[in-house]
Amino acid sequence: MKIKKIQLGEIIVPLRTPFKTSLRTVDAVHDIVVKVTTDTGHVGYVEAPPTAVITGETRASIRSAIEELIAPKLIGRDILAMEDNQELLHSALIGNTSAKAAVDMALYDLWAQELGQPLYRALGGSRNVIETDLTISVNDVEEMVRDSLEAIRRGFKVLKIKIGKNEALDLKRIEAIRSAVGKDIVLRVDANQGWNVKEALSIIDKFEKRGLGIELIEQPIHFSNLQGMIEVTKHSSIPIMADESIFSPIHALEVIQRRGADIINIKLMKSGGIYQALNILSIAQIHNVPCMIGCMLESKISVSAAAHLAAAKNSILYVDLDGPGLCTIDPVLGGPSFEEEKIIMNERPGLGIEAIEGLRLY
Ligand code: MG
Repeated sequence: MKIKKIQLGEIIVPLRTPFKTSLRTVDAVHDIVVKVTTDTGHVGYVEAPPTAVITGETRASIRSAIEELIAPKLIGRDILAMEDNQELLHSALIGNTSAKAAVDMALYDLWAQELGQPLYRALGGSRNVIETDLTISVNDVEEMVRDSLEAIRRGFKVLKIKIGKNEALDLKRIEAIRSAVGKDIVLRVDANQGWNVKEALSIIDKFEKRGLGIELIEQPIHFSNLQGMIEVTKHSSIPIMADESIFSPIHALEVIQRRGADIINIKLMKSGGIYQALNILSIAQIHNVPCMIGCMLESKISVSAAAHLAAAKNSILYVDLDGPGLCTIDPVLGGPSFEEEKIIMNERPGLGIEAIEGLRLY
């Protein structure tokens, strides 16, 4: 099976409610879709979100990275030559991790199709159901309480609360949500780099003293401040997770060795795809550090690849694959089924995606 054609297009999927973090506000998933066709007529569909505030990429940059630099290297390549193909992909240019991730996911999709196995099984996994949390955007206290109760009504048992804008208000938000949802719902918090070290330690101390039962704190301070992450991790009684701090296996190694976090959030759009995510997972596994698999604002197309990885790897203890749960419609025919908090794997070879509705190829 050889790669014959790499085509690009766009998809727009409106969100149920605007997605708000301390970094940005977004109303719709508006992503680049990549369609890879082989000489045998097999097709892989994948997606890359333009998350400029995190990866530095835009739709235009993703498009030109793939069209001008990546596709010419991979056309005509045998899909089973994974190592060589990955070397070509990752040496095509530096950075541009979402563009690379999209192509990497297509390589894995078609590789597993050639092997005749669903990707999670080809990667050695056996979990066919996984459970995800749902993100609650940062808003007024009342709105966040309403959104949390709605999430629970939909079946979610784990909520990831976006805060990090203002320490006093953040505390009110978490207190109000905890008292509304009761003690059995798991609450994790993502500050998206919104605090400094002092603010982080002060609010974490208050979370603890008030018995708010926070499972973990994600990226409390700026991604570039490793010393600060080390300090917060050392003094926090709640586990600290690194997200924006870790893109590559080298970052993971440094953060783990210097104890700059207790948990690592892996996202395919940061690592440049599954191949490098597996390297991060190996480093974490050697050091006994658990991982989360997360996603950017993505539709089911690329979140399906992350779900396959999550289902394949037992060291992924936390699943934050709520992109499809935030969308109003599901444009994907086939693939894992996202039934609110449950993600049920599908046994078709590869990612299992058959077609994308509303896809406009360039
Ligand atoms: Mg995060």
